[in-house]
Amino acid sequence: MSGGGDARDGGPDLRTLAVHAGADADPETGAVTPPIHPSTTFLQEPDGSARAGYVYARTGNPTRTRLEEAVAALHPAAGLHAAAAAFASGSAAASALLRSVDPGGVAIVPDDMYHGIRRLLLAQAERWGVTLRFVDTSDLAAVGAALAAGDVALVWLETPSNPSLKVSDVAGAVDLAHRAGARLAVDATWTPPGVADPFREGADVVMHSSTKYLAGHSDVLGGVVVARSEDDPTFAFARSLQGLEGAVPSPFDAWLTLRGLRTLALRVRAASDTAETLATFLAGHPAVHAVAYPGRSDHPNHAVAAAQMDRFGAMLSFRVRGGADAARRVAAATRWFRPATSLGGVESLIEHRAPVEGPDTPTPEDLLRVSVGIEAADDLVRDLAAALATLEDA
Ligand SMILES: *Cc1c(COP(=O)(O)O)cnc(C)c1O
Repeated sequence: MSGGGDARDGGPDLRTLAVHAGADADPETGAVTPPIHPSTTFLQEPDGSARAGYVYARTGNPTRTRLEEAVAALHPAAGLHAAAAAFASGSAAASALLRSVDPGGVAIVPDDMYHGIRRLLLAQAERWGVTLRFVDTSDLAAVGAALAAGDVALVWLETPSNPSLKVSDVAGAVDLAHRAGARLAVDATWTPPGVADPFREGADVVMHSSTKYLAGHSDVLGGVVVARSEDDPTFAFARSLQGLEGAVPSPFDAWLTLRGLRTLALRVRAASDTAETLATFLAGHPAVHAVAYPGRSDHPNHAVAAAQMDRFGAMLSFRVRGGADAARRVAAATRWFRPATSLGGVESLIEHRAPVEGPDTPTPEDLLRVSVGIEAADDLVRDLAAALATLEDA
């Protein structure tokens, strides 16, 4: 743990970077906030060349470029040549990366990965000619065994996992993947800059659903892929699909996401502080029989989490006594926590998760998943205390 958001290697603090990344004043007008460029087409010089590198909005748009530059800059461990590609959703970003596996190749994916990406893979991977190996990636021996089975082109990690908050050892998995000639990608949606930077542990590519923490206000869908350079082969594949298919954010969506990024460091710091308070409160509550939060010393991968995370994040889950019915009652009884899916916004959310994931889910029916927002911790503790108290009259 480094204390979160502190400057590393003498570089600027994340709070400073978040405010200034991709935010140079408009050279034409001096506007301090970035302009939105809705134009889909751009003037050509008499010799046919592009004036500023822009030709047509599917392949490039100045507002999208600013967003990509900002997100790349917010991953300092990816280095000075870091590159980012923005997509219309986190799922489109993930799909572009996962399709980098050549037909006949194998992708290792977490057995409890985000259910939307899991559904995408179950529906499409066979058509792509990609074989999936579902593995408990929090168990390095299991990752090693799946690599030893051969033909693995890509290892996909998501840590902490959803909704059981299992933590995978990124550096350990990178080492195993690279020795087997595979690339390693991290879905870092739950660990935005300020919580972790998987490039520090050696990840080749990082993906975010910017719908969540990066944009941060539950009002814009998006995804982004980041790598150490434009030339990274996995990134280059995703970049090419971005331009060929056009699953890109609109200029307005790119701008909204940029605007959200300005407060990213403050939001994740505040929400992580509060999540720690809530995890402690819940763990001591008689109506709660389990709390999953990587910041707790009783978490099975706490040491790994402490080594690779700056903060333990703002997601947690807990299990209530009394089964599905009790979980439903608690979610319905909160005042500040909105009963809704998703995460990473300024508002706290609570979700009875099993029904969302469908009948074949391994998620326990008494589990509630919480995305902690930036409200005052005391109000959120009082809110959960009151909601849990309703179980006593059951
Ligand atoms: C939400 C989410 C996604 C998908 O992102 P969309 O923007 O909804 O397409 C992928 N991975 C994780 C971990 C997520 O939480």
